[in-house]
Amino acid sequence: MITFRVIYLLLGALVLAVIAASTGVRAEGVTKQDILNDQKTTTDVLTAGMGPRIQRWSPLDKVNKENVANLVPAWSFSFGGEKQRGQESQALYRDGVIYVTGSYSRMWAIDARTGEEKWQYDARLPEGILPCCDVVNRGAVLFGDKVYFGTLDAKLVALNAETGKVVWRKELGDFKAGYSYTAAPLIVNDMLVTGVSGGEFGIVGRVDARNAETGELIWSRPTVEGHVGTLNGKPSTMTGKVNESWPGDMWKWGGGATWLGGSYDPDVNLIYFGTGNPAPWNSFMRPGDNKWTSARIALNPDNGEIVWGFQTTPGDGWDYDGVNEFIPFDTEVDGKTVKAGATADRNGFFYVLDRTNGKFIRGFPFVKNITWAKGLDENGRPIFDPKFRPGDPTKSSDPKKGSSVFAVPSFLGGKNHQPMAYSHLTKLFYVPSNEWGMDLWNTPVTYKKGAAYLGAGFTLKPLFDYVGSLRAIDPTTGETKWEHRNKAPYWGGVLTTAGGLVFIGTPEGYLKAIDDETGKELWKFQTGSGIVAPPMTWEMDGEQYVGVTSGWGGAVPLWGGEVAKLVKYLNQGGSFWVFKLPKKLAAN
Ligand code: CA
Ligand code: CA
Repeated sequence: MITFRVIYLLLGALVLAVIAASTGVRAEGVTKQDILNDQKTTTDVLTAGMGPRIQRWSPLDKVNKENVANLVPAWSFSFGGEKQRGQESQALYRDGVIYVTGSYSRMWAIDARTGEEKWQYDARLPEGILPCCDVVNRGAVLFGDKVYFGTLDAKLVALNAETGKVVWRKELGDFKAGYSYTAAPLIVNDMLVTGVSGGEFGIVGRVDARNAETGELIWSRPTVEGHVGTLNGKPSTMTGKVNESWPGDMWKWGGGATWLGGSYDPDVNLIYFGTGNPAPWNSFMRPGDNKWTSARIALNPDNGEIVWGFQTTPGDGWDYDGVNEFIPFDTEVDGKTVKAGATADRNGFFYVLDRTNGKFIRGFPFVKNITWAKGLDENGRPIFDPKFRPGDPTKSSDPKKGSSVFAVPSFLGGKNHQPMAYSHLTKLFYVPSNEWGMDLWNTPVTYKKGAAYLGAGFTLKPLFDYVGSLRAIDPTTGETKWEHRNKAPYWGGVLTTAGGLVFIGTPEGYLKAIDDETGKELWKFQTGSGIVAPPMTWEMDGEQYVGVTSGWGGAVPLWGGEVAKLVKYLNQGGSFWVFKLPKKLAAN
């Protein structure tokens, strides 16, 4: 005989099953389709960049120009620990939980309603790790039932998203040779796609694709000509040809680190990665273009082959790298819609390329007073000014130091890792740029495993009474519509929303909301330490939230020369901040 209690339980189970089916909760985990839809679905943030095209655009408009002045903190979460340093991570959100990474390869899952910790994961880092530019991490990715991130000892870690327990851990490279990892991984189809860091130690850059479930390597593609890739456990093809654009053995320690992660465009089924400087910095030791360093490359996800490459700084002699994010977007050229992509290079030029074939569409400077190049030619190749390439030490009266030049921008770049955003409303890119130069000179150097492989010395200098310049750039004309200046360098990245807002943090500690059309500051909040991470936004219980990591650090205090001295009063920290409108206003 069926009791009322059994009927009650059966009904309860039925209701739960219906809820699970309608909301896709947990059982399924994050699917391939969820990743592709990430930009559109405002009730979750599964990827760094808020979608595989990493446009950092949110269709949410509940917080907007009219009400943003009322934004208040909902909660703040301390990362704790004795050691803090730079916090460059964009957080993720799903099913009421925030996932955020921090310095020294840590991750937290936090209740998004209360700010209470659910779990913490600490990578036990060995002695002797070699991060070049602070102990940062730039974020994770959610897929299936797992959350993935990379660590400073060059490991890739898959954690159970519910418990924080390690499911698998794979090596990306030998940390003793200078390999490390700081970028957020990318999900493409069912694969986890990553790069490597370590260009200042003469490592060789790669893009790897793994089975996301098991961590097993599917393909690996070296970025430096002469190195052979792998596919399904076997050698595949060589990148370029030996000595095509590299002299002698220099390609063996050639750099080209893929340290900033990538983007993916499902329309053309290509993965885009940037590649760092050729190693060493002293360009007289490796005459030639040094492919594919300081470039953007497009890869076929099915086999890891390079479909096209575009070098922004061939034969780079300034550590301009070429790692900055490549953002797919569609634009008009001669009245026709073109599948394009945009990137703002460390070298100070903004490029629009055809993302199907890498052809140069247009390019223009996005910072002032560039010295190292007189401009770009019709193919987008820089027109070098030889006066501003640091001299060859072997031709100097002092064989330990070549002639010094004052190059603009500095090697920390017209824009560094801090990501720009693309607005679907204004069709503008919001570029967190910096105005600075450097004295730069070459020195002799030989490759030694695990030792810095620069062959250069430098001092960074400001150019004006500000360094940071957030620019609203029209990619069709190169016009800067407005500029929002900041005394310290911008180092934290941008989010733009359908509310007509541009969110950006400053090293001085403010999270700001700026009018996307005028550049006018509409709101700011002091988070207690410098912001060097990109903001994100999501919808929960019908309300819009904005989150940002706070904690001053990164490359500027370490390598910023005279600029570092200007900002040495800034204090370190480590916390995650969440903002919302007061309930009364949010309901309107
Ligand atoms: Ca989403
Ligand atoms: Ca570099």
